[in-house]
Order: sequence, then structure tokens, then C-alpha cells
Amino acid sequence: MKCPYCHHEELKVTDSRDAPEVNAIRRRRECLKCFQRFTTFETVELTVQVQKRDGRYEDFQQQKLIKGLEAACRHTTISHEHVIALAAKITGDLLQRQVREIDTTELGDIVMQHLQALDPIAYIRFACVYRRFKDIKDLMDALQAIHPKDAAHARKKSVAKNEEK
Ligand SMILES: [Zn+2]
Repeated sequence: MKCPYCHHEELKVTDSRDAPEVNAIRRRRECLKCFQRFTTFETVELTVQVQKRDGRYEDFQQQKLIKGLEAACRHTTISHEHVIALAAKITGDLLQRQVREIDTTELGDIVMQHLQALDPIAYIRFACVYRRFKDIKDLMDALQAIHPKDAAHARKKSVAKNEEK
């Protein structure tokens, strides 16, 4: 492992404890060069295969999921700890499944279901990346999934506006 700040390879573990809520070991580490401190999580390795859009398979990587979630959840009400817990929950659910294969679209849908319940901004950001919205209608449909009434209301309003012209 390298320091995320300066990429130095000598790190010191300053604290190590069980994190049962995410089924992981949490370690506080300190870089011996730049002295920045950061947290790492040691989790179970998985054997779920993800089928990508081009048909190829790759191992499910929780780190990749966390990265995607982090990007979607930046500057929202969802904390880093919450992202880690959510990734662990989704990972756990994947492992519970009979079939150890999932395609990118289905995995994206699962993540979106969770985000939808947590934070609308994170949900839309994630949806933008995963659904690759083709036009504004796709985006409106995604918005409507959060607040069906609000979205319908907004659409009616904009239609009324257009009629006025
Ligand atoms: Zn460093």
C-alpha cells in the first residue's frame, strides 16, 4: 500500500480495530514521509463476476463501488463512513445471491435504489453516469422516481408556461 497523498510506501499503523458494522478491520495509518494520516478498511475478498457493457467479465471490486459512490455522494449529506457502510451492505447482498454473476446495469440499478432513498443529488449524479442519459426525458424520468408528485407538478407547470406563449 502507498500513501494516498505522496505515494510513499512506508506506512505506520497507529490504530487497528474491528468495524463490525461494515464487516471489516479499520486501521489508522500514518505516512512516514509526509506524516499524513488516513483510514483503511480491510474486507473480505469477493468472487462475484460483473459482466460489463462490452460483454467481458471482471471480478466485482468493492473499492471500485466505493469510488463510484464517493463521486456521487461528494458534497451531499452522505458521509464517507456512510459510503463505506453502503458499499458493504451492497456487497453483502451480492454475496447472498444464488447466482454469482451480475451485469453492470443491474448492479447500477441496485446502487440507485439505495441512493434514491438516501439523497436525491447523489442519486441523480450516479444515474447520470450509469444510465448515460440520452436526453432530458431520461433525466426527468429519473427525477420523477424520487418525487413522483413534484416531478409531475413541475412538468404540468412547464407545459402551462409553454401554452401561455
Ligand atoms: Zn505520504
